[in-house]
Amino acid sequence: MSLKDTLFNLLGKLNPRFLAFAEKQMKNIPGVSQKIEGEYAEIMVELEKSVKPYKNKYDSFTQIPAVGRDHTDILRDMESMRDLEESHWKDGFISGAVYHGDQEHIDFLNQVYALNSQSNPLHADVWPSANKFEAEIVAMTANMLGGEGLDVCGTLSSGGTESILLAMKTYRDRAFAEKGITKPEMIAPVTAHAAFDKASQYFNIKMIHIPVDENFRADVNAAKKAITKNTIVIIGSAPSFPHGAIDPIAELSELAREHGIGFHTDACLGGFVLPWAEKLGYPVPPFDFRLPGVTSMSADTHKYGYAAKGTSVVLYRGQELRHFQYYTSTEWPGGLYFSPTFAGSRPGALSAACWAALTAIGADGYLSATKKILETAAVIKKGVNEIPELHVLGNPLFVVAFASESVNIYKVLDYMSHKKWSLNGLHKPTCVHLCVTLRHTQPGVAERFLADLREAVEHVKAHPEEKGTMAPVYGMASTLPMRGMVSDLLKKYLDVIFKA
Ligand SMILES: *Cc1c(COP(=O)(O)O)cnc(C)c1O
Repeated sequence: MSLKDTLFNLLGKLNPRFLAFAEKQMKNIPGVSQKIEGEYAEIMVELEKSVKPYKNKYDSFTQIPAVGRDHTDILRDMESMRDLEESHWKDGFISGAVYHGDQEHIDFLNQVYALNSQSNPLHADVWPSANKFEAEIVAMTANMLGGEGLDVCGTLSSGGTESILLAMKTYRDRAFAEKGITKPEMIAPVTAHAAFDKASQYFNIKMIHIPVDENFRADVNAAKKAITKNTIVIIGSAPSFPHGAIDPIAELSELAREHGIGFHTDACLGGFVLPWAEKLGYPVPPFDFRLPGVTSMSADTHKYGYAAKGTSVVLYRGQELRHFQYYTSTEWPGGLYFSPTFAGSRPGALSAACWAALTAIGADGYLSATKKILETAAVIKKGVNEIPELHVLGNPLFVVAFASESVNIYKVLDYMSHKKWSLNGLHKPTCVHLCVTLRHTQPGVAERFLADLREAVEHVKAHPEEKGTMAPVYGMASTLPMRGMVSDLLKKYLDVIFKA
């Protein structure tokens, strides 16, 4: 073990609060913070090269051009960029990201967008069509998720993160109004989406993380122990983003119900897969409104609902709960103002495209899409497990996370990147995942993935001397005890992204 590893191991055993303190002190030692800044600067130069490939290739602007450009020039440049980027996702090299992607479907959604491009649901009087589309998207989603015959309602949002933020704000405001809770807490498995931590930060709700078991499912006993008089909501994923594991939603939601607190099923990823998987006979544990303890859900139309990016549905058991999400202003000189979600004006065209996707695909379309995806995922799961150095984590339906005891999986990820693959590198535990979409159901894609993966493992085994390009960064990012510094680095990365 190198000195650095030993140091990290040691630091890893220390109290996180002491570490935060030490980190702060260390930065204050003259020279240390300069040294750190120097290291950051070096990494950032490298990073900038990789995230700004168009730097000298196309005209760029930091001022609005004095004279407007020709439409043909703008379209030509955009077509050229599209041509450079398209095959990467279209040919199925990417985990998640584009869930449908057939040209005919894309063309249809674009046609719908064009028809509705001026629409804004904020103006219900001008575009009642937008409100019709949104109300029906919510109703169709609610009924698909066990809401039939129940008082399940909801709203459209801009994406999974917004749906989650809205639901958490809703529980916070209800807990204050009904129970006078001023120090709210939420309980979520460590595998719950980062959007819940974002909600915790934005809305001042204390996050209580609970561990997951060997199959990456939330520990129900830990949830039970974590409940206090300030708990406002318990969270479970169906399934989770990292390992595709479905939490024990029945037990967790029942626990919440017994204690009179909310339960949110995050079905952002699985909301438009699991209902169809169940109909196809796959073993899907209960996760939706058929469980009496489930009081809210999020389901992303812009993932497996196959809508364009920018829509998701948040659902509630009962109109009363939904009221805590709404915003109203009665005193503003601009007039009576009210909006259902965080945004004011919203793109009605995206709602129209979402409605068009749901109704054009239909139950038959979702069933056949789900069948193809689950069958492809099964081929990939089996193929990964047949590589002696690798094993699939848990028993997922369509998000295949895999790890290794004998090879550095981040080096495998590096090699796969050279072969054009964009997989996700995860940590805690160290693994890599592929979220299977319709893109991977195209002939030959799963076979190509497995062949490249076998080659990658062989290559890493044969070349222990190679460090890899991203592998050390991933390795460091997951083991570095100075989490504040990792966080600083991520913020600097965002600065680079917004550099014109
Ligand atoms: C994608 C995802 C989210 C967040 O969705 P965005 O649309 O990226 O904001 C939340 N939860 C799970 C399980 C997800 O997979």
